[in-house]
Amino acid sequence: MIDFTLTEEQELFQKAAREFAETKIAPHVPEMEETGQSWDPVIKELGAGEMMAITIPEQYGGLGLGYTVRMLALEEIARISVATAMMMQVGGLGIDPIVLFGTEEQKEKYLPGLATGERFATVAVTEPTGGSDPKGCRTTYKKQNGSYVLNGRKCFITNSHIADVQVVLALDEDNPEAYSTFILEKEMDGFEPTHIEHKIGMRGCNTGEIEMKDCVVPAENLLGPEGKGMRVSMTAISESGRAGMIGCALGLQTACLEAAIKFANERILYGKPISRLQAQQFKIAEIKIDLEAGRLLGYRASATHDKGERAGNEYAVAKYFTTEAAQKAAKMAADIHGGYGCMEEYPVTRYVRDSFVLGPSAGTSDIMKVIVSRWALS
Ligand SMILES: Cc1cc2nc3c(=O)[nH]c(=O)nc-3n(C[C@H](O)[C@H](O)[C@H](O)COP(=O)(O)OP(=O)(O)OC[C@H]3O[C@@H](n4cnc5c(N)ncnc54)[C@H](O)[C@@H]3O)c2cc1C
Repeated sequence: MIDFTLTEEQELFQKAAREFAETKIAPHVPEMEETGQSWDPVIKELGAGEMMAITIPEQYGGLGLGYTVRMLALEEIARISVATAMMMQVGGLGIDPIVLFGTEEQKEKYLPGLATGERFATVAVTEPTGGSDPKGCRTTYKKQNGSYVLNGRKCFITNSHIADVQVVLALDEDNPEAYSTFILEKEMDGFEPTHIEHKIGMRGCNTGEIEMKDCVVPAENLLGPEGKGMRVSMTAISESGRAGMIGCALGLQTACLEAAIKFANERILYGKPISRLQAQQFKIAEIKIDLEAGRLLGYRASATHDKGERAGNEYAVAKYFTTEAAQKAAKMAADIHGGYGCMEEYPVTRYVRDSFVLGPSAGTSDIMKVIVSRWALS
């Protein structure tokens, strides 16, 4: 049986997330966009609003509510600030591998603080040698005196300078086939966040580089089995990472739709609102059609994931569709604004900039097509 209705619990959280975004996040948006540095207050809000706790099991201080709830919450937050949703989404990407692959000790040590937002996380896989090809990873580890020593550099890391806990993929210095994943803490000797990027969009969300120079990581911070690190890191990216980007894209599409309708109803030409012009109505219809279709694809994938089944293929379809649709929605909403769509005081200009950043994060549209074509041809 196909049931398209949200559960009461999902609806309640969705409503709470909308109120949270409108009252707690919206006031920070102008400063975040202006300075790109309003991370601390926003992180505190995300923690206090229990947004970081959604997928963490209850026994570790979380809510244990699953990926559909997380997608709904991200959608509501991205409607107000895609930058904030991105910080939350990648924060969750640092959490998920610990939930999925962590030892009991690791879960007890890290998850309660990450659930409350007292500590924040990220995942660091991408390197200058290419994000689409994680096997191009050049960060190395070697065993030394019962610990691991890491050396290398990661780039394009969301929350690079604010994350206390960083889940890092590295290659065995003595075995070019063996990758392992480690939990690093920002206080560890030899670990340093370095360059900060200036992005076209999502300006209030920190993206940057981290460096490991003879960084000594205790043996107990190996995450998952040694040599299986690719699975540990990529499971989180291909499932909760793409789920999160879908939530961000749906929220941005909703913001575009609302901005387009508001402007079209207010702008008077030929003595009437331009919402009466069929060409403008059709743009609004296209944004709405894509949003409705994207929601079905996204929620189907997250519902599959929530049932405990693999959802990587469904997420790839939905990630491709929604992030491409978000770019289209932002352009159409800006077009409806005419010349005002080029003026910074209109939020639609931010939506255009933010929409470009959705594509590469958690895998480009080309990579989504690689996954989908493999699925279709299998
Ligand atoms: C805002 C932002 C935040 C990010 N946050 C994180 C993070 O927190 N942690 C992290 O680890 N990474 C993060 N990333 C990195 C992101 O995952 C990579 O940018 C992405 O995987 C693409 O890698 P790349 O930028 O090196 O491009 P490349 O891999 O060099 O790709 C270049 C081009 O080649 C195409 N291409 C690559 N392979 C194929 C193929 N097989 N077939 C066809 N075309 C192909 C791509 O689609 C793209 O058009 C972030 C990126 C951005 C932009």
